[in-house]
Amino acid sequence: MSEDTLFSKIIRREIPADIVYEDELCLAFRDIAPQAPTHILVIPKKPIPALSEAQEADKALLGHLLLAVGEIAQQQKLDTGYRVVINTGEDGGQTVFHLHMHLLGGRSLSWPPG
Ligand code: AMP
Repeated sequence: MSEDTLFSKIIRREIPADIVYEDELCLAFRDIAPQAPTHILVIPKKPIPALSEAQEADKALLGHLLLAVGEIAQQQKLDTGYRVVINTGEDGGQTVFHLHMHLLGGRSLSWPPG
């Protein structure tokens, strides 16, 4: 059993979030400190701590998350493009240890990231 994080509390509606999408496997809500005009976090309801800890059994869930991100990008009308980021571990800049995908869009994004 992994540690409870604030994202688990958002899933349980114990702390508020601006939720933009939900289905049986995942939840999406606006990042509290947006780095782009559209900045949404897409998380599995299953508390996988990080991408590096995903298992073979999570294969379908990971595919589901990617398809959900694409659907949310369409809903948000990110027609000219967007970026999906999974920060993983300390060097990856991960701060919340519940797997999440950042969906960033609404402006031209530079590369490489910092
Ligand atoms: P990461 O650094 O990849 O682990 O991303 C964690 C993200 O969660 C950051 O972009 C934070 O701004 C965001 N965040 C932290 N607390 C909240 C919250 N209560 N509601 C929405 N987003 C949050």
